[in-house]
Amino acid sequence: QVQDRYAVFGHPIGHSKSPAIHQAFALSTGESLQYEAILAPLDGFAESLQAFFEHGGKGANVTLPFKEQAYALCDCLGDEARLAGAVNTLTRLTDGRIKGDNTDGLGLVADLERHIGSLSGKNVLLIGAGGAARGAILPLLNAGIASLTIHNRTHSKAEQLAEAFKAYGQVKACTLEALTHSFDVVINSTSASLSGELPNLPQAIIAAHSICYDMMYGREVTAFNRWALDQGAGEAIDGLGMLVGQAAKSFAIWRGVEPAVEPVLAKLRSELAEQA
Ligand code: NDP
Repeated sequence: QVQDRYAVFGHPIGHSKSPAIHQAFALSTGESLQYEAILAPLDGFAESLQAFFEHGGKGANVTLPFKEQAYALCDCLGDEARLAGAVNTLTRLTDGRIKGDNTDGLGLVADLERHIGSLSGKNVLLIGAGGAARGAILPLLNAGIASLTIHNRTHSKAEQLAEAFKAYGQVKACTLEALTHSFDVVINSTSASLSGELPNLPQAIIAAHSICYDMMYGREVTAFNRWALDQGAGEAIDGLGMLVGQAAKSFAIWRGVEPAVEPVLAKLRSELAEQA
């Protein structure tokens, strides 16, 4: 029996956890499929993807640095992808057109809801205004939050995002000086943690009820999460659940069945701990 083919495209791609995650989902849902990692040349993403679909590929995930290129070559787009300007999930429709979705923010919201229940009525601070922040905004607003405040080192980028999303809910940009009170949920979407750095932030944003979330994940507690706990935050969560969550949403788009996230997340968590 020929199995449906899926893949993740990126550069680099060697350390991607997506093949293991999707194979685990296939096992747990009883779906029969293949999922591989494809290293696309930096100047040859479109060609590489086209060849994959011509050889029967059904769908693909896209990671750095190709999410904007993937957006540009789609024939139609889901709302999250259209507003994010970036695509992490491609689906070849039965008529041959390519549909683009962005499940990163949906994975984030699902992970937050798993930890704290409903996001309804929460005041949320989003730090950063890059691609990951952009993908998170619509799913956060759709989850019923009371307000979204965006803070970024380069303030003009936070202002641009607030302007782009203001039709969808209570969104505003905030400078460092104006961050004078605490939030229910504080999300770090900056890439600062990748280099062990901390964005410049006032202690005032954290209170005992604050739930902090760093989109980054790794073996150790991230710099932001360590700082948040030191300031007295109630909980600090890393982005591993977002990673598994976005994969589950992609899998559901392709296969029509949403796999359980917890068993795969627990396995990845214990593998990370073993590497420590
Ligand atoms: P971008 O390069 O698009 O954006 C980077 C952002 O970080 C910008 O807002 C930038 O601010 C800010 N920044 C970088 N360094 C610092 C610093 N030292 N202090 C303050 N702000 C800083 O990156 P992405 O949005 O694509 O990715 C951000 C993070 O999200 C990465 O760590 C990535 O791994 C993670 N991520 C996790 C996912 C998951 O599934 N868990 C999915 C997607 C992303 P400025 O505008 O001023 O330059």
